[in-house]
Amino acid sequence: MSYHSNLQPKFNIAYIKLATKTEGPFTRTCIWFQGCNIKCPGCVNVDLQSLEPRNIVTLEELLNIVKAAKEKYDIEGVTLSGGEPTLQKELHVFNQEIRKMGLGIIMFTGKNIKELDDELIESVDLIIDGPFIESKLDEKRILLGSTNKKLHFITDRYTKHKDYFDNEVSINEITVEDYIFINGD
Ligand code: SF4
Repeated sequence: MSYHSNLQPKFNIAYIKLATKTEGPFTRTCIWFQGCNIKCPGCVNVDLQSLEPRNIVTLEELLNIVKAAKEKYDIEGVTLSGGEPTLQKELHVFNQEIRKMGLGIIMFTGKNIKELDDELIESVDLIIDGPFIESKLDEKRILLGSTNKKLHFITDRYTKHKDYFDNEVSINEITVEDYIFINGD
């Protein structure tokens, strides 16, 4: 990867948790992107809907955060959440670099997978798609919100870990480190 600093992809981030066990199997870094235009009634992340810049970070800065989390917490992968991660242009470039580190990627999206570019789909291991539908609350699976949401295993990295989501009992948060906030420009 080689970008002049002005040409690097940039990402709009709300916050990042460096190491958590509650955003997918194993210990993961979770990134909540800022901005979502889907506006599901009953959304629990209303503060992440605004499309305004919140913390703008370059590709290199974001990769360095993940690298540091890998070294410090031996994370297995990264979870992309929000907000709507797919609004981030060139997210696939970030994902491809994450893969080079040997890390897995789980992405939540309020869109249907059919709306996504192949390039983005192929850069992720597991996609959980669909809007949150308040009248279809999912009480049998954790993290998914509503029963319409589907798991799409793009690679076989997480196929053996589907059970993680089939869990009626809320997993207690095991936070290794608190959220970090980034001061953007
Ligand atoms: S897709 Fe997610 S963040 Fe966006 S409005 Fe729906 S629940 Fe909220």
